[in-house]
Amino acid sequence: MPELPEVETTTKGLRKTIIGLIIKDVWTDLSTKDKRQQYAIANPKFFKIFKKEVLNKKILSVERRAKNILINISGEKTILVHMKMTGHLMYGEYKKDPINRFVHFTITFNNKEKLYFSDARKFGKITLIDTKIAHETKHLNNIGPEPLEKQFTLEKFKERLNKKPNGKIKTVLIDQSIIAGIGNIYSDEILWKAGVHPEKKVSNIKEKELKLIFKTIKETLKKGINFGGDSMSDYRNIYGLPGKFQLHHEAYRRTGEKCRKSGCKGIILRKIINGRSAHFCSVHQV
Ligand SMILES: [Zn+2]
Repeated sequence: MPELPEVETTTKGLRKTIIGLIIKDVWTDLSTKDKRQQYAIANPKFFKIFKKEVLNKKILSVERRAKNILINISGEKTILVHMKMTGHLMYGEYKKDPINRFVHFTITFNNKEKLYFSDARKFGKITLIDTKIAHETKHLNNIGPEPLEKQFTLEKFKERLNKKPNGKIKTVLIDQSIIAGIGNIYSDEILWKAGVHPEKKVSNIKEKELKLIFKTIKETLKKGINFGGDSMSDYRNIYGLPGKFQLHHEAYRRTGEKCRKSGCKGIILRKIINGRSAHFCSVHQV
């Protein structure tokens, strides 16, 4: 699933390409009666309303909140996109790659170009909300702080973790209500670098380790953004191109390989922790 660095990469790409454009048409071949998609474009009734509301509206700005993309349009509406497992947005003449062929939603602009949503597994969510109350809607109201913001200090980090003192650190790091945007890949990389075992109970983590995890969260997410996101799975940027963070994994999906930490003789293990796979070093993560 795309995490903060991938969603940030797409958000930046959208800011470069679609701001100022006017929506001239929207299309989807999705059609579900699934209650969870009741207020999303995958529901034909909702799509009709969506279409009426967005036609001839102008793209004003694009923001990211956790793993959500918020496209603010005129008329004080916001198109909210959550890419979920395999979704990604592409614009214009994007790269034709097998991963990019599952287009189930498009927006056509006044310049004749399109924004495409490719989503192999169709779990993605696209909906429309009121801009003014966007952050109070159920999509966004239960999300923890943004880890790359200045206000996310060591004190704030500790305060958030303390909401789950008995939780395992891996599970707590990927809990969106505690901290926004961290998922399976980045949590494994963060804990590898900080040298902390993914099953370590939050209340047993020493001050020194907490400082290290905090610092590593910021560094690792920034590194992910600098590499244009991670494309080990289906993520592609808005030009349909893969990011490069997957070429720099130290733990994630390196099961059975030698640990690359200098002087460490460990190997990378994989274990399911609360339903999610964790990859970690057998020696230096304690
Ligand atoms: Zn190691």
